[in-house]
Amino acid sequence: MERSYWWEQMVAMHKGGEYKVGAREKFQCSICGSSYTKNYDLRKHMKSHTGETFCHICQRSYSNVQNYRMHMLFVHKIGTGRQT
Ligand SMILES: [Zn+2]
Ligand SMILES: [Zn+2]
Repeated sequence: MERSYWWEQMVAMHKGGEYKVGAREKFQCSICGSSYTKNYDLRKHMKSHTGETFCHICQRSYSNVQNYRMHMLFVHKIGTGRQT
């Protein structure tokens, strides 16, 4: 009894060609491509593109980067801008 060698090769090739696309990070930013597992995180991230800024420490939002920088500097003692 002989098994056809070419057939086994064909089967092996087809099996090897199967790809499973993992769905690890479902929420992706359409602007910079950053991906997040939670919609909440993506929405928070999107605000950085729309101009609204979030303090990641106390979760307060700022419509203006200048206010955010002042907040970071005076409340958390973190300089977010250029460092000298
Ligand atoms: Zn982005
Ligand atoms: Zn803060």
